Amino acid sequence: MSNSKETSEEILDRIRHEHQQHQAGYREQALKMYPWICGRCTREFEAKKVRELTVHHKDHNHDNNPADGSNWELLCIYCHDQEHMREVEQQRAEAKPSGPTKPTLGHSPFAALAGAFGDGKTKH
Ligand SMILES: [Zn+2]
Ligand SMILES: [Zn+2]
Repeated sequence: MSNSKETSEEILDRIRHEHQQHQAGYREQALKMYPWICGRCTREFEAKKVRELTVHHKDHNHDNNPADGSNWELLCIYCHDQEHMREVEQQRAEAKPSGPTKPTLGHSPFAALAGAFGDGKTKH
């Protein structure tokens, strides 16, 4: 009787588990729907390497998973990092509107190196 209520730990555990299943669901759908090619660097992936390909949400809302896949984009883990880094930088730029607007380089070679050799701590 005293065990009829879930502890907060158990609830968290259940939510994490459900979330994982949910993610696995859209990942599989996206991989079925799209060719295994990174949408940025156009690298191709085979089954052995496909775990390096991530499902990116174009509107950055992971709960927005339309069945037609219109919110998904397959990106390799490096380009995926870049994509999210770019977003962070954009937000930072918008947050402080001081100074003249410089033309931004989409891909800095140093950022690419950091992505290639970093530990990938920014990926979700
Ligand atoms: Zn890529
Ligand atoms: Zn993403």
